[in-house]
Amino acid sequence: MFKIASSFAEDEDGNDPLNYLREKFYHPFDKNKKPVIYFCGNSLGLQPKSVSDILEKELKVWQERGVLGQENRWINYHEKLAVPSANIVGAKPSEVVIMNALTINIHLLLVSFYRPTNKKYKIIIEKGAFPSDQYAVESQLKFHGFNKKDALIEVEPQKGSEIIREEDILKAIKKNSSEVALIYLGGINYLTGQLFNMKGITAEAKKYGIVVGFNLAHCAGNVELFLHKWGVDFASWCSYKYLCAGPGAPSGVFVHEKHHNWMGPRFTGWWGHNKESRFKMPSKFDPILSAEGWQISNAPILGMAPLISSLDLYELATMEKVRKKGIKLTGYLEFLIKAYLPKISIITPRKRGSQISIKVQNGRKAFKKIMGKGLICDWREPDVIRISPHPMFNSFLDVYNAAIILKDILK
Ligand SMILES: *Cc1c(COP(=O)(O)O)cnc(C)c1O
Repeated sequence: MFKIASSFAEDEDGNDPLNYLREKFYHPFDKNKKPVIYFCGNSLGLQPKSVSDILEKELKVWQERGVLGQENRWINYHEKLAVPSANIVGAKPSEVVIMNALTINIHLLLVSFYRPTNKKYKIIIEKGAFPSDQYAVESQLKFHGFNKKDALIEVEPQKGSEIIREEDILKAIKKNSSEVALIYLGGINYLTGQLFNMKGITAEAKKYGIVVGFNLAHCAGNVELFLHKWGVDFASWCSYKYLCAGPGAPSGVFVHEKHHNWMGPRFTGWWGHNKESRFKMPSKFDPILSAEGWQISNAPILGMAPLISSLDLYELATMEKVRKKGIKLTGYLEFLIKAYLPKISIITPRKRGSQISIKVQNGRKAFKKIMGKGLICDWREPDVIRISPHPMFNSFLDVYNAAIILKDILK
């Protein structure tokens, strides 16, 4: 289906229904103002061109109206994000809220949803989870008086493999079901790019009354998700990676509808309080009966504004088409790497998002050369280069040109 020829890439771009989106983003360039190929949307997505206008608007409201900007505008600002965010993760709008930063939200969600008993207290995670997840989970265990050695179950890849087998996750759930309180995984592993079967894992865990949460940092805006239908309990993601909302942009949270009458533990603040009576400053907390009930502080408007730009583009594109293109774009990258560099080992399995991780022993120098040639990707110690073509702002010709750079340097 794929061909090694720039004409093939150009034809694909010609037939790509999302090709028009490339021009809706700013593309970076090098010191000599020569455009670079940006394959780092898995780390920080590019800036939509509409961001400055949207930010400018809020600055103007602040300039001209001061605190009166709150009225009918900033107070409900985060609500504008609920529908398009829900479309990104396959949720009802009431199940989604944008707030805080990702690791903070993970802690807030664990405070509510990790509810260990003396018998059922263990947490299953994937071996090689993103460090912040490891720290967060370990500190939550400690907070409840457990230690990692006893209470943390890390599902590992089989010897000689980088990839965790799905059946090994399901086995770990079944085998430890009477002791496990929570399974918490990255939907896509940040390093290997492996996409986990969230539907199957959730179904298996639910058989044993195990709570299921996902870190969707590498999924949101990348792959299709159906969190509501799958019956996932909670999830969180950042919006500066695939979602292109800018450095440090606020995070998204999903809390399944079945938990909206929450009576369990929760760290609370005034922004989670019933909106009707919030400004009457009551002393008793009366939660909003939706994901918004987990909010603590008022929303960072200037941080949120760029997310409106990028979610508009996602609404235009639809996740279905974004995913379809992501599969093809990444498949083309894999095809060219295999064709040009048969000796290079590709870690990323077939089940993945828009990322290919390759293993290059002692590859730091080569990585620097690749960057010098104008392909922006990233290096993860000790030997991994992550290359991520983004379905919104990258083209098939980008993939072709990137593969030529990789070929020239790694051959
Ligand atoms: C990017 C990423 C984070 C980042 O956490 P912040 O709190 O936003 O700094 C956390 N977890 C995973 C899996 C990530 O990929």
